[in-house]
Amino acid sequence: MQDHMLGEIVAATIEQGLLSDEYPIIGAIDVDYVKRRIDELHAAFPDTCRVQHCFAVKACSFEPVIELFAQNGMGAEVASPGELRLALSVGVPAASIVLDSPVKTRSEIEAALDCGVSLNIDNFDELDEVDALLTDRHPAAPIGLRINPQTGSGSVESVSTASATSKFGIPLHHPDNTRRIVEAYKRHPWLTQIHVHTGSLGCPLELIAESIAVIHDLAEQINDEIGSEQITRLDIGGGLPVPLSPHDKPPQFTDYVEALRARTPSIFDGRFEFVTEFGRAFVAEAGVMLTRAQYTKEAGSRRIVLTYAGAQVASRTVYDPDSWPIHISVHSPEGLAKSGVELPHDIAGPCCFSGDLVAENRMLPKVETGDLVVLHNVGAYYLSSHYSYNELPPIGVFGLRRHGTGLTIETIRPVPDT
Ligand SMILES: *Cc1c(COP(=O)(O)O)cnc(C)c1O
Repeated sequence: MQDHMLGEIVAATIEQGLLSDEYPIIGAIDVDYVKRRIDELHAAFPDTCRVQHCFAVKACSFEPVIELFAQNGMGAEVASPGELRLALSVGVPAASIVLDSPVKTRSEIEAALDCGVSLNIDNFDELDEVDALLTDRHPAAPIGLRINPQTGSGSVESVSTASATSKFGIPLHHPDNTRRIVEAYKRHPWLTQIHVHTGSLGCPLELIAESIAVIHDLAEQINDEIGSEQITRLDIGGGLPVPLSPHDKPPQFTDYVEALRARTPSIFDGRFEFVTEFGRAFVAEAGVMLTRAQYTKEAGSRRIVLTYAGAQVASRTVYDPDSWPIHISVHSPEGLAKSGVELPHDIAGPCCFSGDLVAENRMLPKVETGDLVVLHNVGAYYLSSHYSYNELPPIGVFGLRRHGTGLTIETIRPVPDT
């Protein structure tokens, strides 16, 4: 988030009393930023082919956020019955929804077929299940197989999905699988889509482009063997990287499109329609959390800051701090960004276990009781991914939009009942 927007959010938080004794931590989303990113995605893709852009709902699963995407011409990628319900409830048309959950019960598949959303099948067992349910009907939306191209991992193993042993999709290079995949498409004319998603952070563009090249070529091979253009849609997933530290310069949507074109020059020649499923890239940098240094203390050589930001709002970071570092800044009680000599700090949360730290040994200007502590770039996979440890409630989240010279504040998730 840009400094001036952060400054305005901090000022608004203080002036409006959003952070209080009752609500010692809040989240905020820069709605204009999200809208700008959506516009950038639309502009980045060439006009030569049809594209259904979907927002990966799990990145920020608030109704007003999904609605914002829908109002700006985007569908939804959902991965559970709850996410599917959310998307439908805010008016995303079924035809613009793709369901990708790795495991689905028979009734979940039936419900998805009934409401007419697109579906990506994870494995051969699931293919049999869908086939049995389609004996007397034709699906209303494209159905695809999710392929694991086994092109490799990004820097974060737990969210890499194209490694040799990933739990996702049909591993392409497993003995006999290429033949079985081609046979599946031959046997089931309703299989008209193919899906790949390489990972959800730390995957370089070249790796993403390689995975997409693999399924593009596989789709051509399958269509050639069948002798018709049965596969019409390539669902190419999401995973555009975002900055993990303030110095990172992550690629943009235009770089992504260029990388696909560089690897597969004919990719946008209009033969295939596309689905995209970006999540993090739209919202990560749009979100912050604000809390106060409730108490500060020294223990041994540690300077500990006790706040309300802990595992309940940042579970990935607390349990795997090296993979998911959070950038933190400190502001005076009046909201001025602190600077000056930096000291190592442990920023601790409210959960009752010692490891509940959102940052350890972090160099920061001296944090004092009453200061504002800001967690940056938490719009994706944090604000909406609450973890209910210690019965700590989901935090209130506000949306901020620029309106003339001021900001308007809207509720994205109401503050908890206290
Ligand atoms: C999580 C996920 C996405 C979104 O990934 P981002 O890194 O947030 O862009 C897209 N597709 C699938 C199948 C996913 O699991």
